[in-house]
Amino acid sequence: MAKQFDGRVALVTGGASGIGRAAAQAFAREGAKVIVCTDANIKGGEETVKMIKQAGGEASFVKCDVSKAADVENMVVKCVGLYGRLDYAFNNAGIGPDGKRVPIADIVDCPEEIWDRTIDINLKGVFLCMKYELRQMLEQKYGVIVNTSSAGAYKPVPGFCAYDASKIGVIGLTKEAALEVAAAGIRVNAVLPGPIDRTLLFDYMTGTHPEEKTKMMSGIPMKRVGHPEDIAAAAVWLCSDAASFITGQALPVDGGVTIA
Ligand code: NAD
Repeated sequence: MAKQFDGRVALVTGGASGIGRAAAQAFAREGAKVIVCTDANIKGGEETVKMIKQAGGEASFVKCDVSKAADVENMVVKCVGLYGRLDYAFNNAGIGPDGKRVPIADIVDCPEEIWDRTIDINLKGVFLCMKYELRQMLEQKYGVIVNTSSAGAYKPVPGFCAYDASKIGVIGLTKEAALEVAAAGIRVNAVLPGPIDRTLLFDYMTGTHPEEKTKMMSGIPMKRVGHPEDIAAAAVWLCSDAASFITGQALPVDGGVTIA
């Protein structure tokens, strides 16, 4: 049976775990060939590829640190070299405060290197990805990009200064890019996840600060945590023809967090 993304190629950054892994699998289920990218968690990236192939899909792993221009350029070159084009990009790689790898700290205590690292990966990373992805999409006159922001962009959390600033920056960059390429028929949108389980960020956060889970739940009107598949479904839909007149938008997928 024909699938909606047959003959298409999707690239997913941060595809080694959580939301990225679920999205890579969802694009593959719709028929796309998928490039799975990540920086350090190579084992996780290769595992995602294996899962897709075992389910009958096509995927390849490319190591890429999204904060490094040469890596990002190489990622797009490899994608086009392997599969001939790049139709959908889900720029999803990111880091966030988990109280362990990245401290939770108010502005007055936030180490400069945490600010720099967060902005480098979460914001500059999205800029670099779009820079090289859009060059290819403009050349082939087709493409859709979805960037991962966060509900934290609209609902800042104390102690999350670099993260929240990076994620509102992603929304600004998304709108900017959408305007620049709209006339070329290329669309760019963002998804804003609320708290999502089965992700490294969520596990670290609730593991190191168990009280955070209760606090999180009380802020979710739908009274459930989201799943990686909720965000994957939104990314696939935004790339699909069903969303063909939607560009420059920031879509919360958060159980109502941003309206509470
Ligand atoms: P995760 O930690 O499970 O996944 C993050 C992914 O990004 C991993 O694959 C990791 O290897 C990759 N990554 C990290 N730094 C990288 C770099 N420099 N270059 C390339 N890849 C890199 O967490 P997740 O929740 O699936 O995160 C995905 C996105 O969702 C992130 O942008 C995160 O900020 C956002 N988000 C998550 C939540 C949540 O509750 N988990 C909520 C809102 C937004």
